Amino acid sequence: MIENYDLHCHSTASDGALSPTDLVQRASERGVTHLALTDHDTTQGLEEAHAAASLNGIQLINGIELSTSWQNHCFHIVGLGIDPSHPALMTGIQRLQQIRTDRAEQIAAKLDKKRIPGALDAVKEIAGKGMITRTHFADFLLSQGHVSTQQEAFDRYLGSGKPAYVSTTWAELREAVGWITEAGGVAVLAHPLRYKLTASWLKRVLGVFRDAGGQSMEVITGRTNPDEIRRTTLFANQFQLAGSVGSDFHSPANVWVELGRLAPLPKNIQPVWELLTDR
Ligand code: AMP
Ligand code: MN
Ligand code: MN
Ligand code: MN
Repeated sequence: MIENYDLHCHSTASDGALSPTDLVQRASERGVTHLALTDHDTTQGLEEAHAAASLNGIQLINGIELSTSWQNHCFHIVGLGIDPSHPALMTGIQRLQQIRTDRAEQIAAKLDKKRIPGALDAVKEIAGKGMITRTHFADFLLSQGHVSTQQEAFDRYLGSGKPAYVSTTWAELREAVGWITEAGGVAVLAHPLRYKLTASWLKRVLGVFRDAGGQSMEVITGRTNPDEIRRTTLFANQFQLAGSVGSDFHSPANVWVELGRLAPLPKNIQPVWELLTDR
């Protein structure tokens, strides 16, 4: 069988549109053989995903995407092959969940000032048992007719510097890498080109990440073009990081990002799955 890895995606446990079961099913239908579910700051969807994976004959890798801060900037660190019951990781996740809850209240208060009431109750309803994210606020603004696309919700209200933006101090990047490593996982810097950093700042982050025990970075993500792959490959090799591949799939409604449709990892990069022991 041809191996097809997709090591970054979201379910209804955070801001994905599909339940873990439907997500795994869709991945399987699209030829994915190894899938990592990496919801924002939660491992809640993994149990259901495992059950679906065994029915679909797909390998499910325990994952998470942690929200972290370094130098007042937010960085997403994916953990692959983690033990979700590890105490250090569990305590860390609980802290991030509290930060998310507090931030949701602050975002709702800011929207209220802009004469958009009721956001908190609405996002709680939309998120259900899952983590509340800005995606849920975007969906709320969309449903109320304040914006006509999710992107517009970020551009006008939720994005950095916009009226409902709340600057957040997440877990410290180094400490989050530590939780993942302690929980037996491999820490992966997610979507490195999406932080809008200059090459020299990105190299600083990669150095800090690597020194903290980070072992991999995403070389291929949902919409990377050949030039971006060339750049991420150079960074990965320069910092001796294994390469990961992940679509960051959230919803079938985004026709540009699909599960299992990723470019192959360049030959001169060590695949991250070689570092995953029970893959
Ligand atoms: P949060 O972690 O709560 O700040 O939410 C971040 C999530 O919002 C990301 O994981 C994306 O899924 C989504 N997001 C961020 N920026 C945008 C954007 N410009 N358009 C659509 N979705 C976005
Ligand atoms: Mn997301
Ligand atoms: Mn992310
Ligand atoms: Mn993601």
